[in-house]
Amino acid sequence: MDKVQIAIIGGGVIGLAIAAELSRKHQDIVLLEKETSFGQHTSSRNSEVIHAGIYYPHDSLKAKLCVAGNKLLYAFCQANNVPCAKLGKLVVAMNESEIPALEELEKKAKANGVLDVYLCNKGATHNLEPAVAAYAALFSPSTGIIDSHVLMKVLERRAEDNGVMLAYGAKVTAIDKITAGYKITLENKDEFLSEIVINSAGLWSDQVAAMAGIDIEKQKYKLHYCKGEYFSYAKPSFLQRLVYPVPEQDIKGLGIHAVIDLAGRLKFGPSADDVSKIDYRVDAVHREKFFQAIKDLYPQVKPEDLSPDQAGVRPKLQGPGESVRDFVIKEESELGLPGFIDLIGIESPGLTSCLAIGKYVADVVLFYK
Ligand SMILES: Cc1cc2nc3c(=O)[nH]c(=O)nc-3n(C[C@H](O)[C@H](O)[C@H](O)COP(=O)(O)OP(=O)(O)OC[C@H]3O[C@@H](n4cnc5c(N)ncnc54)[C@H](O)[C@@H]3O)c2cc1C
Repeated sequence: MDKVQIAIIGGGVIGLAIAAELSRKHQDIVLLEKETSFGQHTSSRNSEVIHAGIYYPHDSLKAKLCVAGNKLLYAFCQANNVPCAKLGKLVVAMNESEIPALEELEKKAKANGVLDVYLCNKGATHNLEPAVAAYAALFSPSTGIIDSHVLMKVLERRAEDNGVMLAYGAKVTAIDKITAGYKITLENKDEFLSEIVINSAGLWSDQVAAMAGIDIEKQKYKLHYCKGEYFSYAKPSFLQRLVYPVPEQDIKGLGIHAVIDLAGRLKFGPSADDVSKIDYRVDAVHREKFFQAIKDLYPQVKPEDLSPDQAGVRPKLQGPGESVRDFVIKEESELGLPGFIDLIGIESPGLTSCLAIGKYVADVVLFYK
């Protein structure tokens, strides 16, 4: 039976970033992706925002990996010609009652090491974005946008140049612990052995953990799906920057925000609806809900300007109404699975954090070996 040193399950931005990073120092790596090419799921169905790291609890992996990932990603883009733009972002208050939330966010950002954020009064906000009917804003200059497809293409090429075997159309269906590692079985019945297994299977990462024998209910690894739809704006963008509402307390996403892509197109989203199945269709009936969510902030938008765009599904560790959970990135020796590394619940800011996650996982592998 063929044997490799490291098997990475999942060819989204996280699996690719891990492959690119690990292949700098390790050989005999295979990346297994069930689809016929990389990035067919969450990694190509998101806002493509390079977050600064202002929302996440201090000392959480989300905060640390986002703040580190932001800097790594801009540097990587520059060195590798990946299109990106540091547009900046405004988190806007609609009225005075939302100011304490902005101040809280500013404190949280600074505690996370995001020192460049600052509060803008009505006049300063108007100068930055005249078309937004805001009372005040928190400005984050280091938030930006990226072409996630080109990023993944560059990571894929880098991994391949470093000798990683890329196996597309390779769906993992079973993982069995053996004395020196794991036996991995694919849907086509091919089998091989791997000393280390990295589970970066995104929306299916709980199921992949279960294949290795982990009790996902007991470990609280079971994922809950939360769908985010986008509606695009038919006319030229009236914004220069990203504009977000003040996040609500029990928010499942960051609120329906205005996203600009690198071609300058404007869209609104993502919504946040708990779903039981993965279905990327956008329901045109939701146009009215989007319009109601944005109409006060952008008085020039008419319902007929909005058309269904893309949708993505968030892999959330917390169920509806539960408090926000951190990323799980863990080597599972404690569960009797040495060398099995789980990445579960890699929702936003996963894209921003991908290079930092790659380095984090490389350290976990180094420590394990
Ligand atoms: C609506 C939305 C907006 C977002 N916006 C942002 C943002 O603006 N900025 C940001 O930083 N983050 C954002 N995110 C989060 C970001 O997109 C994700 O964190 C990131 O893409 C996760 O990448 P991944 O590689 O873990 O998952 P995926 O891209 O889903 O990749 C996992 C891969 O594993 C494969 N796989 C699964 N099971 C198997 C198996 N058994 N065998 C083989 N292969 C398998 C799948 O086919 C898939 O390709 C957003 C997410 C959503 C849903």
